[in-house]
Amino acid sequence: MLQYSSMPIDKTIETQLRAIVGDNYVLSSRVDLSVYECDAETLDIASPDLVVLPSSTAEVAAILTLAYEHKIPVSPRGAGTGLSGGATTVLGGISLVLTRMNKILSVDPIDRVAVVQTGVTNVSVSEAAQKYSLYFAPDPSSQSASTIGGNIAENSGGPHTLKYGMTTNHVMGLKVVLATGEIVALGGRTRTKEGLDLLGVFVGSEGTLGIATEAVLKLIPRPQAVETMLAYFNTVEQAGQAVSDVIAAGVVPAAMELIDQLTLNAVEDSLRMGLNRDAGALLIVELDGPRTGITIQRKKVEEHISTNNALSVEWANDAYERAKIWKARKSAFGALGRIAPHGYVLDGVIPRSKLAAAISEIAVIGQKYNLTIANVYHAGDGNLHPCMLYHKDNEDEVKRVVQAGKEILELCVRLGGTLSGEHGIGIEKILEMPSVFSEDDLESMRWVKQAFDPENICNPGKVIPAPKSCGESGGRPLLRHKLLASGC
Ligand SMILES: Cc1cc2nc3c(=O)[nH]c(=O)nc-3n(C[C@H](O)[C@H](O)[C@H](O)COP(=O)(O)OP(=O)(O)OC[C@H]3O[C@@H](n4cnc5c(N)ncnc54)[C@H](O)[C@@H]3O)c2cc1C
Repeated sequence: MLQYSSMPIDKTIETQLRAIVGDNYVLSSRVDLSVYECDAETLDIASPDLVVLPSSTAEVAAILTLAYEHKIPVSPRGAGTGLSGGATTVLGGISLVLTRMNKILSVDPIDRVAVVQTGVTNVSVSEAAQKYSLYFAPDPSSQSASTIGGNIAENSGGPHTLKYGMTTNHVMGLKVVLATGEIVALGGRTRTKEGLDLLGVFVGSEGTLGIATEAVLKLIPRPQAVETMLAYFNTVEQAGQAVSDVIAAGVVPAAMELIDQLTLNAVEDSLRMGLNRDAGALLIVELDGPRTGITIQRKKVEEHISTNNALSVEWANDAYERAKIWKARKSAFGALGRIAPHGYVLDGVIPRSKLAAAISEIAVIGQKYNLTIANVYHAGDGNLHPCMLYHKDNEDEVKRVVQAGKEILELCVRLGGTLSGEHGIGIEKILEMPSVFSEDDLESMRWVKQAFDPENICNPGKVIPAPKSCGESGGRPLLRHKLLASGC
């Protein structure tokens, strides 16, 4: 693998980049670069040498050709809402920001596909398909800001992943610029089965295999009926048990989302929508599909919610009330900013049956490290988002956050789960990869990376830990990694 020197990018190369994208779209001042030094995982910071904002696949290809020739690392970046440091330029080089490539190229209601540039926001795709009563199903809570390219790279999920699957289930084709600058097509407008599934390999590869510039996305019809319920419980454990019971009863809700008391109070402080502040947990259940099926499912849900001692149950009467319930859920992380300026959001997954156990053990870890932990869960998927609230200038608190984060991930693995449900590995969880993968597994991943990107140009330093013998050097020092290495 390539050894990086962390040398600043030569002025003549900068001039060539300016010629490719235009003077205004290469940023090099310290102030401009500081905007791109991290994503929404703010513990780890590393400035790029240059930020380059292309407007077309041809420009991306020209940039990669130049970078490949001069062995400059290129880290693709969408909106920077990632929560695992995926777009952070740990080895410097170019931060390749795709947000100018935000065109919806076509929406085809007959084939039910949209063709888009990958810098477009997730929500814009569904907005464009709305007139045909179609939509793009993956709905990360960041959907009004996050880009399709970021969603593809992280294989993002969202509240409705429970029924509709992850981004990978909704991407049919991609135009990708490889590290050499070569442009390739993966998949297409129809389901293809021939050969190796390289599209499947690319989705979720976190920018390490190339740059996706265009995507063919599957659109699905809006359901005939939707019913959304909000229930309160005294404890998150009771709510967690209700989730397990509903699914065990054979109901497949479109979404089951859970937030704890701290989070619901932060949301109430921010939105003043009349949430029950005294409840220990708030559970949202959404059912969708044909009207007749929903009536039967609704009865089953109510039965299991009441067996688990729900304090109250309310069903949205119309689209306005449904939107209000979802606003509460989708505002959760933003609202937590009222409690502390920084939040470190984890993304561990556990088997759904272990939800109640995980919830209790996370509370114990919070007490052990004297930390405030707010909890938001994609409960139906067993995907936990404990959010540790802290002040970055409090060094001792930062150390406790890092150590507690490590213990929570270890807990998820111990309970039979894994490190990430949807936020990816990035740099955040790279040190933990050996806890779920053997050295042989990791070596197989390195071979895949090598096949796509032999010179390690695309998003180096992410996802796959370098073998110990490699001695990869030149990386920017990362706070979280330094603290873990020193045992805090
Ligand atoms: C408040 C909040 C709520 C969130 N809710 C959810 C949620 O419900 N579900 C969920 O899954 N995530 C969620 N996230 C995480 C994040 O929004 C997603 O990971 C999202 O897909 C990132 O998109 P982005 O455009 O911001 O990508 P970035 O953060 O800019 O980049 C993410 C990764 O994608 C790579 N990348 C970006 N564009 C390309 C491209 N065109 N080609 C190749 N690689 C590329 C980057 O190198 C990086 O590795 C949330 C984040 C926040 C801040």
